Amino acid sequence: MTANLTTDAPPELATVESEIARACLDAGRDRSSVQLVAVSKTFGADAIAPVLAAGQRVFGENRVQEAKAKWPSIIAGTPDMELHLIGPLQSNKAKEAVALFDAIHSVDRPSICEALAKEIEKQGRSPTLFVQINTGEEAQKAGISPAEADAFIATCGRDFGLSIAGLMCIPPLEEAPAPHFALLAKIAARNGLKLLSMGMSADFPVAIQMGATHIRVGSAIFGHRTTMTSAR
Ligand SMILES: *Cc1c(COP(=O)(O)O)cnc(C)c1O
Repeated sequence: MTANLTTDAPPELATVESEIARACLDAGRDRSSVQLVAVSKTFGADAIAPVLAAGQRVFGENRVQEAKAKWPSIIAGTPDMELHLIGPLQSNKAKEAVALFDAIHSVDRPSICEALAKEIEKQGRSPTLFVQINTGEEAQKAGISPAEADAFIATCGRDFGLSIAGLMCIPPLEEAPAPHFALLAKIAARNGLKLLSMGMSADFPVAIQMGATHIRVGSAIFGHRTTMTSAR
């Protein structure tokens, strides 16, 4: 799942990859400790194909419906890839999400836990789960507030039997991301969680410095999105 790109990789992907390598070097981390999730939302199969051909194997989408329309045929041709859901999940999409995704970064309320637990048992699939933390406590943003994080993480296991692997955050657009990444890492550490999904196109080197295990990079690889779908 790590950097083994072909020599004819798209230049944007190659640039991102070299920035990841540099950030890992600076942080004294092994490249294999960071997964690049290539966020392909709004882009079609034609844009995805060269990135896949270059050897990238982990992709992220923020909408279940869009992913369902786009990915099953690609996955069939590339069974060693992973698809991650990085956007909000509704309970009535839990069935489709568990069937399609290898990881879900946006677990953020008991109703979702309940729906996921039911589908995980029914389908015998177990996507890697991240709890989304609203580190900036922004009213318009999804996620559990930092003050409620410990209790919610405990609830996931105790009340729903879900195994939570890590935490995810999207820092406020207008703030320096580092304190948010530090807060996420601190909450994860005290709850014994190993995975940290943090860092996007604008700030992934900082996130790697602060311990990110999964960086979610879209526009730096695929270019600017023209339709209105933003993480922020
Ligand atoms: C779109 C999106 C990203 C990628 O954002 P870029 O700035 O294009 O890298 C990352 N995380 C989430 C949750 C997103 O929705």
